[in-house]
Parts: sequence; C-alpha cells; structure tokens
Amino acid sequence: MRIIFLGPPGAGKGTQAKRIATEFSIPHISTGDMLRAAVEAGTELGKYAKHIMDSGQLVPDETIIALIEQRVSEPDCSDGYILDGFPRTVPQAESLGSMLAARGESIDVVLLFDVPAEEVLRRMESRRASEGRADDASETQRERLKVYEAQTAPLIDFYKANGLLRVVSGVGSVEEIQRRLVAELTH
Ligand code: AMP
Repeated sequence: MRIIFLGPPGAGKGTQAKRIATEFSIPHISTGDMLRAAVEAGTELGKYAKHIMDSGQLVPDETIIALIEQRVSEPDCSDGYILDGFPRTVPQAESLGSMLAARGESIDVVLLFDVPAEEVLRRMESRRASEGRADDASETQRERLKVYEAQTAPLIDFYKANGLLRVVSGVGSVEEIQRRLVAELTH
C-alpha cells in the first residue's frame, strides 16, 4: 500500500508512521529525516538545507522531488511505503502523481491527522524540550505552522477532490491513534 500521512508539524505523523510501517512491513519515508541525516553527514544537500529547515521554511520542490524519486525507486519500496512529510506543496503532489503514473502506480490513501492548533503548539514545545530539535524552537514554531497553512493545507482539497483523503483524529493516546489508523487502512 502507498500511503501519505498529512497533517501539521507536531500532529504525531512521525511517531505513527514508524508504528504503522512496522505493522504493515513497509518502509517509512520521512523527507525531514532524510534531510536531517544529510545535515548530520555534512553533505552538500545538508549544508544547503540546514538554514532553510532552521527557519521553518520549505526546501525547494525540485530538491525534495529528486530525493523522493530516488528513494521510491529502491527495491524495498516495491510493495508500498508510508510518506511522512511529503508531499508538502501542490507542485510536490502533482510531481508525485505523475512520477507514480509513469510507473503504473498510484497512491492508495491519504490519512489526514486532525489535531487542534493549540494542541500542535503544545506538542512542538514539548518536543523541543525533550529532543532539542532546532526547528522546534519557539520562534520557528509559528512560522512552521504558517507555512503549513499556506503551502501544505491546500493538499487537503487536492486529495479530497480525487477521493483519496480520510480524516483521522490525532488526539488521544499513541495506541488509540494507531488503532484508528489501522482501522482506516484495513476496512
Ligand atoms: P519534518 O521533519 O517533516 O517536520 O521536516 C523538517 C523540515 O524539513 C521542514 O520544516 C522543511 O524545512 C524540510 N522539509 C521536510 N520535508 C519537506 C518537503 N516535503 N518539502 C519541503 N521541505 C521539507
């Protein structure tokens, strides 16, 4: 199954993507994790992306699309995957659609994590405290949410229009949310 997890930063997509990926034995593909690995490794991509990520802005579409195209072509992706944090713009979603169509493939489902804005801010704050993520620093938090509203939220209508969108409440315990996601994926 090819699955997209959609929702604001701090909605719990990463935590759930890891669990669902294990449960369904498919890879978890996080463009944020890929970029952080590049920053850590000190590659050209990492050097280029770091200041963009720390400011809460988006890395340019072409860079991200190239990363994803390469990743989904790897053999472990042949039975599907969970995309977490991609697509994040309408052009990224369009590129993904045509990239998959060219391979005779398509996205099966888009799961939207529904979490109120106050709860998202609270979670980003606690993640900054526990993980020390630079892009969760308070100045950047509101910027990331603004960028989500302006550039990523339009994907809700994009995927609603092609009938792929399902909304899941992202409020509750990790186990409860996981059960809701599995129910959506298996019914
Ligand atoms: P995430 O871990 O998904 O919250 O991503 C962390 C940061 O990486 C984002 O705030 C962006 O700067 C960058 N990033 C991750 N995925 C994308 C994407 N699909 N498009 C553009 N930038 C991205």
